[in-house]
Amino acid sequence: MSYQHRTIDGQAIDLPVGKVVCIGQNYQDHIAEMQSKTAPQALFFIKPATSLCALTPGFSIPQAQGEVHNETELAVLIAKPLKQADFATVNDAIWGYSLALDLTLRDVQAELKKLGRPWEVAKGFDGACPVAGFVEKSQLQHPQQLEFRLTVNGQLRQDGNTANMIRGISQLISEMSQHFTLLPGDIVLTGTPAGVGPLQRGDELQLQLADVFSLTTRVD
Ligand code: ZN
Repeated sequence: MSYQHRTIDGQAIDLPVGKVVCIGQNYQDHIAEMQSKTAPQALFFIKPATSLCALTPGFSIPQAQGEVHNETELAVLIAKPLKQADFATVNDAIWGYSLALDLTLRDVQAELKKLGRPWEVAKGFDGACPVAGFVEKSQLQHPQQLEFRLTVNGQLRQDGNTANMIRGISQLISEMSQHFTLLPGDIVLTGTPAGVGPLQRGDELQLQLADVFSLTTRVD
């Protein structure tokens, strides 16, 4: 089943499917839980279009490659090209918002970090970016003040708020566009708050974006 951008109501969105540009280390509590060192330069990386899949009604995770961690993140769907864009241009280019999982093969990533190698195989595998349906930006008054939550098997695992981003949405997309041209249909992931941890086959997940939507899914 091939992926297509959809609204939260399931309507197809008339944009192609592109790359996913991500920021790492954008919430202080997650930096602390990973015992990561921070740097003034932003940590950007890309997940390929082939990593995208629908979050609902279920998604699969790699088996026998160590732990696969949830990272619940606000996702931004881009509708217009962005190259070295200022904040106003960025805001005009946003189609809307959703939640996505930046699935991460954590053991594989740790080994790659140790070797000083890039992370692609830990972050960019097929199905590494399950994404929910999008809500048009006109429906969200304050995207920089949204609580979002992940519950796994009835237990609250992640409880973040976009107000706690180190780099705000406009700033991080503007910075990304200095390095990578963003095209219509690309998605930007804005970083995970604390609470990453292993997912297992059979887990029941609930993802909630403020009072905008709440959905349930499962790991197949
Ligand atoms: Zn992430």
